[in-house]
Amino acid sequence: MPVLTKPASSFINGTWVEGSGAAVSRCNPAAPEETVTSYRQAGSAELEQAIRSAAAAARAWDDLGILARGRILSAAAARIRERAEEIAAVMTAEHGKTMAESRMEVDASADTFDYHGGSARNPVGTEYPSSHPDERILTVRRPLGIVGVITPWNFPLQIPAWKIAPALLHGNTVVWKSASHTPGVSVLLMDILAAAGVPAGVVNLLLGPGPLGSELVSHPMVAGVTFTGSVPVGHHIRSIVCGRGAKLQLELGGHNATLVLADADVELAASSVVSAAMGSTGQKCTATRRIILVGDGHEAFLSRVKDKVSALVLGPGTDPAVQIGPVVSASARDEIIAAISQSLAEGGEILAQAATPAGDGYYVPPTLLTGPQSMSICQEEVFGPVATVLHAATLDEAIALANNTAFGLTAAVFTSDERAARRCVTYLEAGLVKVNAPSTGSELHAPFGGMKDSTFAGPREQNSAVAAAFFTHEKTAYLRLAPEKA
Ligand code: NDP
Repeated sequence: MPVLTKPASSFINGTWVEGSGAAVSRCNPAAPEETVTSYRQAGSAELEQAIRSAAAAARAWDDLGILARGRILSAAAARIRERAEEIAAVMTAEHGKTMAESRMEVDASADTFDYHGGSARNPVGTEYPSSHPDERILTVRRPLGIVGVITPWNFPLQIPAWKIAPALLHGNTVVWKSASHTPGVSVLLMDILAAAGVPAGVVNLLLGPGPLGSELVSHPMVAGVTFTGSVPVGHHIRSIVCGRGAKLQLELGGHNATLVLADADVELAASSVVSAAMGSTGQKCTATRRIILVGDGHEAFLSRVKDKVSALVLGPGTDPAVQIGPVVSASARDEIIAAISQSLAEGGEILAQAATPAGDGYYVPPTLLTGPQSMSICQEEVFGPVATVLHAATLDEAIALANNTAFGLTAAVFTSDERAARRCVTYLEAGLVKVNAPSTGSELHAPFGGMKDSTFAGPREQNSAVAAAFFTHEKTAYLRLAPEKA
């Protein structure tokens, strides 16, 4: 019995449009024989239609004004809350995460629409002094125009909310290519935005394959692109968008380290690393991938981590007793299991592993490894419930080890030594550094984004001022009075 109560299709100019491409369906990763969502993929014709409708809707949406647009976003937040259980059920069925995780994501997404809706009342622009007494110099912000949004499947509502809410608030129109694994959640968001009062053509959804994303970002009418996903796809998009001089925001993968010092609170550090490494089945860009033990005296910590990993309960996300759902697909499962095997072949060993349930679900047992830091898993982002324990003799050695990847998304440190904590904040190469808290999780009003290969130089995400910097052009207006009439 499908969870999605309406047929899935692309949404263009306020109308549900069946794609001209292949018929595809999305299965439930906990029960792969069960189809959750079926649709026809959008192709180049629908992309062109979406761009034209976004262009046609742009002027009226801009003229509506930021306060009216903010009210529509707040109405969308209320509708997300009203339909929270329905959205969470579709999310769990398509993605595999537990219902508790889906509910948290739905709630955070509603908060995101509320936050950006409310930020409509923030002051805009700056006034500068002029050398002419009859002149005012003001900066004003103008929309980019059409924004192309491309999002991954791992947070199918929250990441689109981070992008679509501020893009709309600032008067842009949107063409969104959502992730193929989670079409139903995207359909529900379109339904909600339309019902909240977003006019036809202002936001358009394309349910299409990856290469359609390339076409979207190549389109000369797309003035800005915001992308979250893997490093290879992000770099491919960067070469296209920068080549044609459009504005670009990238949030990419991570290989996040958590440093544990000997003076850390053992229970806090152990529960935090297990939730950061294994929660959401390890399918978070901010997940802890490497646990670096600094100095000696970590026996109690390691024994708690091993016990907690071994005790994790896997199963379908609809079962309230389950802590860890399946991974998103059979190919993801096979890749993660192959990466674990490769680590063992490269000198690694398994310290702890949870039990895998019976059945056809795409389950990967949460696995705690250790071994030489030359193992490929210490460099490559393996997007699943696997973390590796490494050792460093000193804090400086641990920081160097943590920084020894191409990524720079998040990092965490557990210690009661404030001097050591500050040193980590200063020298860890990560866009987000957390002290005595998991490497995962962020507040939606604080800037979020990485360093190095995890990002692209430019405004990051989430905070409203940062969002305004990305989703608008700043202009400087010199307003001089006409001479007084005699
Ligand atoms: P992908 O990069 O594979 O896909 C992301 C999006 O890009 C999807 O919509 C995908 O479409 C689309 N896409 C695929 N190929 C192309 C292409 N050639 N041109 C344009 N678009 C394309 O990432 P995943 O969906 O697998 O997501 C997991 C990755 O996202 C991980 O690396 C994770 O770390 C990262 N991530 C980063 C976050 C951050 O904030 N830094 C947050 C969350 C995740 P389709 O689905 O049809 O393939």
